[in-house]
Amino acid sequence: MSEGAFSTRLPRKIEPAKLAQQSLTLEGYVPAEALLRVQEAVLTLSNVRCHLSFRVDEQYRRLVEGHLHAEVELRCQRCLEAVPHAQACEVKVALVRDEDRAKDLPAWLDPWLVSESEADLYEFVEDELLLNLPQIAWHEEDCIDPELYSHGDEPEEKSEEERENPFKKLEQLLNKD
Ligand SMILES: [Zn+2]
Repeated sequence: MSEGAFSTRLPRKIEPAKLAQQSLTLEGYVPAEALLRVQEAVLTLSNVRCHLSFRVDEQYRRLVEGHLHAEVELRCQRCLEAVPHAQACEVKVALVRDEDRAKDLPAWLDPWLVSESEADLYEFVEDELLLNLPQIAWHEEDCIDPELYSHGDEPEEKSEEERENPFKKLEQLLNKD
């Protein structure tokens, strides 16, 4: 896919039901600076490339299908440095007006609650990304000396004295008064 296809900045406010009636596809990007909640969860965030097709299906459900792509950097749980990560999200949702209608959806369709004709596309993209981002990340290679974080597996031989020490201390505390 060429970058050119995603050079259009998508609007924040869209009318998803209307887009579905017209069977339109939105292709473009959502600017990273508008996605503050995602920015809080990652170290860096690229613009989010979106390909979203809107349609009405045989059961008159208004569907949005497609995918999102973003480049993020997450914090490595071992060395605390940045780990680059390409985040892709598969989107398959149905527009619903309220929670009750959301419950009627089949398992393969997630609800997108839109109570008015206008909806916030950026918020939607943000929610989808947050749902899909890995909770923890680390470099695949050994980014720090394994000795530094493996402890307790093979305890060092302790001298008899050291081993008894904690109990002696406890004894001393108990016998204090
Ligand atoms: Zn690391």
